Amino acid sequence: MHSNNPFIQIQGVDMVYKTRQGSFKALEGIDLDIRRGEFISLIGHSGCGKSTLLNLVAGLLKPSQGALLCDQREIAGPGPERAVVFQNHSLLPWLSCLDNVLLAVETVFAAKEARPRLVARAQAALELVGMAHAAYKRPHEISGGMKQRVGIARALAMEPKVLLMDEPFGALDALTRAHLQDELLKIVATTRSTVLMVTHDVDEAVLLSDRIVMMSPPTPDGRAATLAQVLPVPLLRPRHRVQLAEDAVYLHCRKAVIDFLYAGHAGQDQAEPALQA
Ligand code: ADP
Ligand code: MG
Repeated sequence: MHSNNPFIQIQGVDMVYKTRQGSFKALEGIDLDIRRGEFISLIGHSGCGKSTLLNLVAGLLKPSQGALLCDQREIAGPGPERAVVFQNHSLLPWLSCLDNVLLAVETVFAAKEARPRLVARAQAALELVGMAHAAYKRPHEISGGMKQRVGIARALAMEPKVLLMDEPFGALDALTRAHLQDELLKIVATTRSTVLMVTHDVDEAVLLSDRIVMMSPPTPDGRAATLAQVLPVPLLRPRHRVQLAEDAVYLHCRKAVIDFLYAGHAGQDQAEPALQA
């Protein structure tokens, strides 16, 4: 058991992209430890390196400096223990929802389990996100919110130790987003997954997270984006959005994030993180 060790360790990480105009340092000096079962949100203005950091943990990028570890092992590439949910579902259009999920299940379990068991896993994952009824539909036959659910089911079906989500609800309307946030709260309470989620939505970050990692953008005098502040969200679970709307701790956390985003850490572009009324 390593339960006392941080589950994900990000140590002194810099990320430099090589571009045609030369190299560009997107992240500098990132240190972060994430506990097993913790829900962490990354928030910050557009361009401050949130996706870059998530992709480093996913193993889709290699750091230019420093190290990333998952469960005491260096992250050397993508792995089934770290499943990614992207903003735009990325389902295969020619496969049914069930087959999309099954494909992911097969990459993890096909070596040791027979087909009926694999299909049962895919069906169970669709049930978990309330999409069992659409198992035999193809992506173009369902709504954006439903596709995003199937994307989440696909990630959950791999039974990942870590769920990495890059603005998973960003493309959805406010009501659908609220509904899926509530579903996600229930799901992670059941699966006890460790979650790292990128968002630009202050209320989403406070509602879901144990800690909110606030990223500062690059500065005009050439300093790279970095991790500016970590805000603990000491709200008990289960959490209910209606009750939280007037909760003093909730409001305090929300204000702290808004103050951070709009006081001295404004992005260089015009992107405004969304505030739900
Ligand atoms: P965020 O997700 O917070 O909006 P990103 O991590 O996508 O930010 O990008 C951080 C910075 O790195 C931005 O300035 C972006 O233009 C730059 N960047 C991202 N990906 C690449 C890449 N593949 N090559 C060069 N620059 C990149
Ligand atoms: Mg991004």
